[in-house]
Amino acid sequence: MTENYEFIVIGAGIYGAATAWHLACKGASVKVLEADDIGTRASGGPGRRGVRANGRDVRELALMKRAYAIWPTLHETLGVPPFYEQCGHLLLAESDTQVCELEARAWLQRGQGIETELLNRDELRTREPGLSHKIEAALYCPQDGVANHSVTTRAYAAAAIRAGVSFSTSTSAKYIEFNNSRADAVITADGQRYEAKRGLLIVANAGVQSLLAEIQYLPTWNECLQVLISAPLGFVPFSHLTGHIGRTVSLKREGDGRVMISGGWHGSWDPETNQGYTINAAVEGNVTEAIAIYPLLKGLKIEVSDANHLETFTPDKIPIIDQLRAHNNVWYATGWCGHGWAIAPVIAEDLAKWMMDGERPQHLEPFRISRFTK
Ligand SMILES: Cc1cc2nc3c(=O)[nH]c(=O)nc-3n(C[C@H](O)[C@H](O)[C@H](O)COP(=O)(O)OP(=O)(O)OC[C@H]3O[C@@H](n4cnc5c(N)ncnc54)[C@H](O)[C@@H]3O)c2cc1C
Repeated sequence: MTENYEFIVIGAGIYGAATAWHLACKGASVKVLEADDIGTRASGGPGRRGVRANGRDVRELALMKRAYAIWPTLHETLGVPPFYEQCGHLLLAESDTQVCELEARAWLQRGQGIETELLNRDELRTREPGLSHKIEAALYCPQDGVANHSVTTRAYAAAAIRAGVSFSTSTSAKYIEFNNSRADAVITADGQRYEAKRGLLIVANAGVQSLLAEIQYLPTWNECLQVLISAPLGFVPFSHLTGHIGRTVSLKREGDGRVMISGGWHGSWDPETNQGYTINAAVEGNVTEAIAIYPLLKGLKIEVSDANHLETFTPDKIPIIDQLRAHNNVWYATGWCGHGWAIAPVIAEDLAKWMMDGERPQHLEPFRISRFTK
């Protein structure tokens, strides 16, 4: 049996849910196919996600500038209680060379319209008295913050459903039916055929490469990123979202006086079970880096350690967002490199516009796959 929609979206993470909502708001009929459940992969799991411009690749800063205007009121737009907190981000430095890099980044970020302050040792300690004596300076972006990713993704999906989008969960896209210059339909693992009258969007993150394998090579790979949540502490010795220019660590406050520790340490992925597992050495390494920044964290107990969420990476650390050349009613986006969350509301808006109007939005220009080839 065949079902017909104007657009089929593969993947119900933040990108699938948000783009489907924008498409439906523009009057399109949309079907979202999700292999698992809504917001359970990179857009799900414990803790919160950083919404930061600080330290970001210059090619993504125009998107972040627009995202700043969306995040603080996005919950109102989607009709749910607040899920975003603007707490500011500190990017720390402890050597002379690192401080020079912060100066250069301050110049670059200000030039792109991102509010950025370079804080010296004393200025920094008025904000964070608990910092290690080793920290010399920080780049501060007051408009950065954190968002509850699972709540946001589900809120987008709920808004999409209210706007008429149909979601099928536990429904894996198996292959795409191509016909000359177009994709006609998606066939799912249970044999159902979904016809895409106008177009197909593949935002399956770690699953994009295998779906396009016969049509388009993608220079991407998957990594499972580690997230740790502490047991409640007597008090949390910091208040900002915090990262470090030379250390692999990111710190966030969590509810009940807990802290979230992440920043780029990896677990190990088992393709048989399709599950990720944490590695003791990586857990210890991540905690050691956190204590090196805030010594008062010494003795903290880890209550949740998670590496069950794959993210896709590219060689130049920015995503690929493009249209297939030979089948131009197929759009795909992947390779978020661990920082695709913050910019998702803006990219989803642009993707929907592109799919409806046929014109690539200017802010998506840097993310063409052709940047890798002559
Ligand atoms: C641990 C961790 C921490 C992060 N921290 C930050 C941060 O602080 N700041 C930031 O900006 N970004 C961060 N990110 C990145 C950000 O969360 C991701 O870039 C973003 O969530 C990706 O969204 P997505 O919708 O593309 O992918 P996903 O949420 O992975 O959604 C893709 C969906 O596609 C589905 N799918 C796959 N194959 C198929 C198929 N064949 N058929 C149907 N469905 C399929 C999957 O089940 C999945 O639900 C982090 C990522 C991780 C994993």
